[in-house]
Amino acid sequence: MDREHVLLSADERERYLRQLSMADWPEEDQLKLKNLHVTVMGIGGAASSIINNLLLLGVGKLVAIDQDTVELSNLNRQFIHNVDHIGMNKAESLKIYARRLNPNVKVIATQVKIDETTIDETLDPKTDVIIDTFDKWASRSIVNRFAVEHKIPYLMAGVVSNCFYTALLHVPHTPCLNCLIGRFQSPSLIGSFQTAIFAINILPIAAMGAFSIAELIKYLKTGETTNQFYFGSLYNTKQDIRFFTLFLSKHFKKISEEQGIRWGPIWESEGMTKLKLSKDPACPICGNSQFDEKN
Ligand SMILES: [Zn+2]
Repeated sequence: MDREHVLLSADERERYLRQLSMADWPEEDQLKLKNLHVTVMGIGGAASSIINNLLLLGVGKLVAIDQDTVELSNLNRQFIHNVDHIGMNKAESLKIYARRLNPNVKVIATQVKIDETTIDETLDPKTDVIIDTFDKWASRSIVNRFAVEHKIPYLMAGVVSNCFYTALLHVPHTPCLNCLIGRFQSPSLIGSFQTAIFAINILPIAAMGAFSIAELIKYLKTGETTNQFYFGSLYNTKQDIRFFTLFLSKHFKKISEEQGIRWGPIWESEGMTKLKLSKDPACPICGNSQFDEKN
């Protein structure tokens, strides 16, 4: 990230007074955030939570990419949009929300569908962090390839049932998405998932946003990722998490079992499960990259 900002404005000092008063939040950290350029693809529910935190904390620049428009059925969770924005492009809707919440943040709205043909011309390889909230693993694998190729930190986060998951991946210091998730095992199964209406409310999304951006803050403060995968569950009732577990790689299952974690289609426990990540040496996407913690 470039260091174009070396000072906070008077407005920013007042706005961020309460967080600058925190013992572990010096002005240096606020400036790191002000110099941060984040790209978010998919401006829906998960992005609402992530972006809201970034806006409130004081990120410098936010590039928002989405080609969809706001619908009424989005509004139980996609709180950066509102009834006046139904029919409006989601990236443009976010831009209006962001300007009202924190005009110090520079927001660029881009109306593009990210796929293999558009990603290279749409994403800036100099962006500091990439975040996607896509609900299709095939779309995420396209983003993962871009992040690995340009060595950009990639925040992968999502929700399933009343659970959420998040990890900040940064090849070569961590595995890539392909080491962990996204192995397509049955086209018919995937088809039924991708056409289903996902049952979802705001609660796991809100929790996911806080844990995800906490990982980003840790990275900003230390310059290193934690290499941790977090899986949080809000309830100890039976929760269908097949959308997550059916796509896990053999490597992910292996390191999970080594750490005493067994993934099944139903998850009943409550609270946070943490997993220390490692690369899949056979990964075709990042397997050839040098695993060197010092780089
Ligand atoms: Zn990999």
